[in-house]
This record gives sequence, structure tokens and C-alpha cells, in this order.
Amino acid sequence: MKVVKFGGSSMADAGQYRKVRDILMADPQRKVVVVSAAGKRFSGDHKITDLLYLCYAHVKYGVDCGGVFDMIASRYLDIQHELGLELDLEPELLELKKRIDSKQISQDELVSRGEYYSAKLMAAYLGFQFVDSADWVKFNMDGTVDQEKSYAALRHQVLVGYGAVIPGFYGVMPNGAIRTFSRGGSDITGALAAAALNADVYENWTDVSGILMADPRIVDDPQAIPEVTYDELRELSYSGAQVLHEDSVFPVREKNIPVNIRNTNDPSAPGTMIQAKFEGDHDPDRFITGITGKKDFSIISLSKRGMSNQVGTLRKVLSVLERHNISVDYVPNGIDNVSVVLPTASVEKDLFTIMAEIQREVEPDTLDVHHQIAVVAAVGRKMAFRPGISGKIFAALGSSGINIRMINQGPDELNIIFGVDNKDFKNAIRVLYSSFITK
Ligand code: ADP
Ligand code: ASP
Ligand code: MG
Repeated sequence: MKVVKFGGSSMADAGQYRKVRDILMADPQRKVVVVSAAGKRFSGDHKITDLLYLCYAHVKYGVDCGGVFDMIASRYLDIQHELGLELDLEPELLELKKRIDSKQISQDELVSRGEYYSAKLMAAYLGFQFVDSADWVKFNMDGTVDQEKSYAALRHQVLVGYGAVIPGFYGVMPNGAIRTFSRGGSDITGALAAAALNADVYENWTDVSGILMADPRIVDDPQAIPEVTYDELRELSYSGAQVLHEDSVFPVREKNIPVNIRNTNDPSAPGTMIQAKFEGDHDPDRFITGITGKKDFSIISLSKRGMSNQVGTLRKVLSVLERHNISVDYVPNGIDNVSVVLPTASVEKDLFTIMAEIQREVEPDTLDVHHQIAVVAAVGRKMAFRPGISGKIFAALGSSGINIRMINQGPDELNIIFGVDNKDFKNAIRVLYSSFITK
């Protein structure tokens, strides 16, 4: 049995619903379907989820959201009419508008309605069972998912042989309130459903033919990566390749369920296979799997003479950050200096307090902070066996005039991470891509 998840662009209009149905008909094992809210139909169009957040913001500040709500409602009603469904969402939509107007709905519940209506329509179109995620994705108080309870609840509800459609992105708190995952979270719902039902494969259908070696919005027509390990995927998605939500790896890897990223608009393309390991080596010359990155990091750097001989300096720095509930992404260090690299958004609010506390508790000789840093990662399971890769990376960047602000390599040699100025971000990715990949 296969669990198949369709992202926003695959749910954008009636034409996309037809493609989804064709994909399901082509393989009778595709029985459990997880869907996102309707995404963009064309560039410049709006994602339903964005409109729902916008609607909530209006209401919060006492502004009528009628216009935005009508855009949302008509997207779904158009699909309903165009597919000639018997199901009529209109009464439910009117009910929702009333609750919005009387401020009787939380932000999470309101934005979750995007996937809810998608799933309702898709279930009606396919003649499948609708299984509400509020009835099985069970959050703990701390926002993690209670997997055991959730899996049992889903197994209890899904009639597998029959076919089921499940809305992604949300679940329920112990007190019954709807809660959503972070953005892009329908991927997690799909992974949880695959794990709960012990699927043979988790297919994730999107608008690109797999994970590409670089972000297609930065590099022109990048090659698709045929095979990726769970470890590499974790690195790639954490460091920026947001094809698949970074947290969707855990449930499937625990059960060793392979993930196959596929393209709804090009169903014959094999896409990317993700699993624990691969036998043989299809492409021995390719030792970087992918290049990703994110902008807007800050580096806090400090130096202190004799630091390498003193116990506890790094601990003190980290405990200041811990007190402010800030997690650190990278900790590059030298003998008498250390830096911590973290997303600017996470330190912005408390930065001056944090700097003052580090100054007081660590008493460094120098203490600086740099903003507008982008972190770029070259990821590849085969880098561990290849000497000279970092050299090649630095030569390529150097000859393009890109200054490297920070370097960090994981002990497992699965990635090489370096910091550049935000302004050099795209260029760094393009330079690396062309120096490594087109060979
Ligand atoms: P969905 O709505 O199906 O979940 P997303 O928009 O979340 O789709 O993810 C797919 C998009 O991710 C692609 O359209 C592409 O623009 C973007 N993307 C960024 N980096 C990569 C990459 N390395 N490989 C493939 N797609 C990428
Ligand atoms: N619709 C949600 C979002 O836009 C979840 C998802 O698409 O995965 O973030
Ligand atoms: Mg997504």
C-alpha cells in the first residue's frame, strides 16, 4: 500500500484534481491520499493558506475580511462546480464566515480549513472516505506529536482497501483545540500516515521532478537527484531545500519506509528516491548530492587569550543562549576563539541583553556580532571518501570574488557548510553548482 501526498500546486484547481485522479487510477496501491490546501495556479496567484493567515490578521485588528474570504471561498466553490460534485461546501463556508466575524475561531483552526476543504472536495471527487486529521493527529502539550496514539487512531479509522483522503497540516491538542504544524507541514502528515499504516512507500507529489541539485529559483534547470539517503535529506532540507518539510523524515525513517518525490505535472518522471542506503553507485563521479542554503543568519564571535586551556567557556556562551531559549545552528571555533551561528530572527529581540550577558559571564577579549550572513551547504554522502573537496569549493568561490565568512564541516563529513554575505548568496550557489555538477 502506498500513502500519497499532493502538495498545494497539485490541488490548485479542477484540472489538477483530474491529474491527481489519473495518478491514483494508474496504481491501485495508491489508496491513502493526504492533501494540502489549494496552492498557486500561476505565478502571482495566491496560496489559500496565505489568504487564511491574512484573513485572521484582518479580524485580529478589527478589519472586515470579507474580500479575502470571498477569494478563498470562490476558489473552492469553483473546483466543486467544475468537477460537478454533489457535495456542496457553501453552507460550511457560510458557517465559517460567521465564526470569523464573531471572533470565535483561533488562528490555527482558521488556517487549517484550507486543507480541510481540499480533502473534502477530493474525497467527494474520488468517492473515497474522508478522514479528518482532527480525529487522529494527536499533539502533546509541548507541540510534539504523540505517535503511538495517533497511529492507533488512524489505523482504527481508515478503511484501507476502500481509499481515504486526509487533510494535511493540522491535528488536535489534548484539550480538543486544532493545532497546525509549521508551514509546509502537510509533508509531516503524509509521513505520519505512511508510518501509521506501514506503507510500502510514501509518495510525495509536488511541482518538480524530485529533489534538484540546487533551488530551481536560483540555478537554471538544475539536475534532479535520483537517490538520496535519509541523512542527506535531513541535511538538505534543514539547510534550505524546502521541497520536503525537514521534520517529515523522522516518522518514515523509523519504519524504514522509502520516500519518492514525484511531479504531478510529469508523472512519468521517476523523481527522487529517499531511503536509508543504496546498493551500488550509479554515478561514481558525482560526490556532491546537492547544494542548498538560507539567508539571514547572525554570527556572534568572541576571542579570549588562553581559552583553549580554560574549561567551560563554550558552555557559558551556550547557557546564555539557552536561557533565552535560542538554539544554535553551528559552532565553528579556533584555538582561542569561538563563534555561534544562528538565525537572526531568533536573536533579534534580545540581542543586546544576550551580548551583555556573554560579556559579563565569559569576559572575552573581543566580542562581535555580524548580521546579513547566508549559510550555504554542500551535502553528499560520498564526500567522506574524497579528499580535496573543501579546497575545490574555496578555490571556486575565491576565483569568483566571494568572501567566505565561516566554515564548518560535520564530523560525519556529510556536509561542508560555509557562511557568505547575504548579497553573495545566490552567486555562491551558482558558482558551486557549475563547478561541481556539470562535470
Ligand atoms: P508542495 O506545495 O508540493 O509541498 P513546495 O512548494 O513546498 O511544494 O516545494 C516544491 C518547491 O520547492 C519547488 O517548486 C521548488 O521551487 C522549491 N525548491 C527549493 N529548493 C529545491 C530543490 N533543491 N529541489 C527541488 N525543489 C526545490
Ligand atoms: N498549506 C500549508 C502551507 O502552505 C501546509 C502545506 O502546504 O504543506 O504551509
Ligand atoms: Mg511543501
